[in-house]
Amino acid sequence: MAKTILIIAAHSDDQIIGPGGAAAKYAEEGFDVKTIIFTKGEVAMPHFKEEIIVDTRERESIRADKVIGGKGVKFLKVPEKDINKEVEIYKGKNKLEKIIKKLRPVKIFTHAPDDAHPIHRKTVSAVLEIVDELSWKTEVYSFEIWNPFRFTANKHPKLVVDTSKTFDKKLKALKCFKSQFSLHGIFNYFPVMTMYIKNTINGRKHNTKYAEVFYRLR
Ligand SMILES: [Zn+2]
Repeated sequence: MAKTILIIAAHSDDQIIGPGGAAAKYAEEGFDVKTIIFTKGEVAMPHFKEEIIVDTRERESIRADKVIGGKGVKFLKVPEKDINKEVEIYKGKNKLEKIIKKLRPVKIFTHAPDDAHPIHRKTVSAVLEIVDELSWKTEVYSFEIWNPFRFTANKHPKLVVDTSKTFDKKLKALKCFKSQFSLHGIFNYFPVMTMYIKNTINGRKHNTKYAEVFYRLR
């Protein structure tokens, strides 16, 4: 049976902006790459009806998953507006725990604990709390979205993935998220722009064209 790699992201599009190139590479190598989106992401487009936003963003993630060769996306639909209500997080965390225990991933990729976005931080906290209680070991790595400042990264071991051969797939997958950048064009969408710069700089640092860098949290 193929080994599972699990990507746990707060919003539809984080899973590609962060580890999209590595995900496509692992899929090509024969891993089952599965994705979980923690929140509903309903606050992203304030002028639209909630059901339309949620539905649109889910469809975009499913399309992007096909581009990177993933094995499916699950949506936990934790309401973002109520994300500070502990009970909603708790319910999301329970669902997440069941999935992790069922899939027994060899690696998990999720947000960085020092991410600038509070909902990204809540997602990684939930993941780490679950992983720390497991009776078996899995590796947990953090990816970056748009936190320009990193205070804690250096104390964690680094995982560098050469994504030169899958960078095209990553870009193609990102183009599926039209609802997020349609007004600005994809390269004017801030998270994509910073991703492009970071992947290029990381590539240069590691003698290749593009690379994604992750930090091992567990
Ligand atoms: Zn996000």
